[in-house]
Amino acid sequence: MDKPDPFANATLCTHCGYCLPVCPTYQSDNDETHSPRGRVSIILALRNGTLSVDEAARTLSTCLVCRACHVACPAGVKPAKLVSLMRGRQPEPATRLSHWLHLVTDHPGRTALAARLLRWYQASGLQRLLRGSRLLRLIPPLQRLEALLPRHRADPIPEFPPRPLQSTARVALLCGCMARLFHPRTAPATANLLALAGCEVVLPQGFGCCGAPYRESGDRQAFLRQARATLTAFANAPPVDAVLCDSAICAVTIQGYARALSHDPQLAQPARELSARIVDLAGYLLPRLTARGIRFGSPGGQSVTYHDHCQTRYGLGIIEEPRKLLDVLPATRHELVAPGSIGACCGAGGVYMLRHPEHARAIRADKLAAIQATGSDLVAASNPGCILHLEAGLAESGSRTQVRHIAELIWTAYRNRTNHTREKP
Ligand code: SF4
Ligand code: SF4
Repeated sequence: MDKPDPFANATLCTHCGYCLPVCPTYQSDNDETHSPRGRVSIILALRNGTLSVDEAARTLSTCLVCRACHVACPAGVKPAKLVSLMRGRQPEPATRLSHWLHLVTDHPGRTALAARLLRWYQASGLQRLLRGSRLLRLIPPLQRLEALLPRHRADPIPEFPPRPLQSTARVALLCGCMARLFHPRTAPATANLLALAGCEVVLPQGFGCCGAPYRESGDRQAFLRQARATLTAFANAPPVDAVLCDSAICAVTIQGYARALSHDPQLAQPARELSARIVDLAGYLLPRLTARGIRFGSPGGQSVTYHDHCQTRYGLGIIEEPRKLLDVLPATRHELVAPGSIGACCGAGGVYMLRHPEHARAIRADKLAAIQATGSDLVAASNPGCILHLEAGLAESGSRTQVRHIAELIWTAYRNRTNHTREKP
């Protein structure tokens, strides 16, 4: 029997071009080889043997795997999936910076230590001093990484909620590695909201990185290592009714464990069980907070725009839930209206912003212009990579618009409530 052709999906392409307006890389440089259609042609050339794996891998490296093209294509072509299959054959090499980052984020102990050092670096004034000096310019890659670090914030980091005496559900909260490293308020704010919604919150111990960056670069061995560690953390945690992630990319990745590990004799079953328990944070919180009559004050601004994490929007189809959650706030919510900006990737793409900094900046510029055009004080987002990338871009342009994780905004608004009605116990 003939072996199935992994790239057969590419033959469905009719070259109609419907995918071009939604592709952030093509929109930013008008280069056909950076379009979904061009990428499909490269895959076809590889399949026909007219292009080597090396040549194909180099050109396909600029794809963000955002999946906007999957939704736009009337013929059912899946360019991002084809690119991922290709990367499975030849993984993207790690850059020096992404290698350092993974050394930290793969291990929860190292992440916690690095996060403490980072907070000291910002709070001590050393960050301000270094940014004002010329020293960082001597090492451009380090300067690029440092520029991504969020600005120092004086507002206190919330405490995790105590174990409730009564709860209606027990849920696990997976705190993403990038959020733990760069955004120390995200996990406790999320846990507090879940507690407010009546949940006992379990934090699985030993969870490092879910493997998302390795999945995207095609490094299957490293992805499996991280997936195994995540499943072990769950095997050692008490049983839960649902699993929530404070980082959108972790939810996407862990939902994909079931398929990615379906042939693994030991992990297939636990992977299926874990994937089935992942639920969207905003969709989970909204009915529970509403049922309890929770009221909210100011989130720290008068208007807010939601920035979709592209893989959550196009991969999981989650669009309305975070918007409806933001609508509980006493703030005007604006949609992005500039052509091509709604749901478009911001250019962060995990370590894409380190691997292709120029592309990432060019793609971000369009997104920032669309955000600025709304006049919003706040941008809500659910993925730490997007938050870092957008925040750095806004800071660089001198904008006063703040980017916050959606759970942080909602928790801030809860803390700022003044004349709330009686809440149900
Ligand atoms: S990938 Fe789909 S939308 Fe794009 S050119 Fe081919 S058939 Fe048309
Ligand atoms: S996944 Fe995103 S960046 Fe890649 S081809 Fe599709 S739309 Fe373009």
